[in-house]
Amino acid sequence: MNKVAFVTYGRIGDQPIPMGMSDIQGQGKKVFLLQNIGTNQKWDEWRQFSQELSTFDLVVTYLGCDPEGWAVAIKFIMTVANKLSQSKILIVSCNCDTVRKELFLQKVNMTGCNRMECECGGTETMELLLLDFIANGTVGVVT
Ligand SMILES: [Zn+2]
Repeated sequence: MNKVAFVTYGRIGDQPIPMGMSDIQGQGKKVFLLQNIGTNQKWDEWRQFSQELSTFDLVVTYLGCDPEGWAVAIKFIMTVANKLSQSKILIVSCNCDTVRKELFLQKVNMTGCNRMECECGGTETMELLLLDFIANGTVGVVT
């Protein structure tokens, strides 16, 4: 994979990589990050994400269940639903409220996406997946 997006309303570890699109030096790979860094400067990145959606090899998104994050996660997933093949989507999700999450994914016809379990918040798992992509060009279970 050469171009992967990591999108979460939470955090992606503690990476120095800025929000938006970045080149990974010397490797010809591009990574797009959208995470909550406590600022309101997310809309330019969101526009860029939406515009370039069809060019990503994989979009990794966290689906949590806390009341604030749930709405944001739904917005992320609705944005990619039906615009990107489900094989190009990896939903990283904690174990809370799994029935509610399954019902939502059924409702938007997204049960065929790649899935991975993670801790609540997904911060560490999202970072590990990002580091995997940078080092190996793979993202966990997805090659
Ligand atoms: Zn949880």
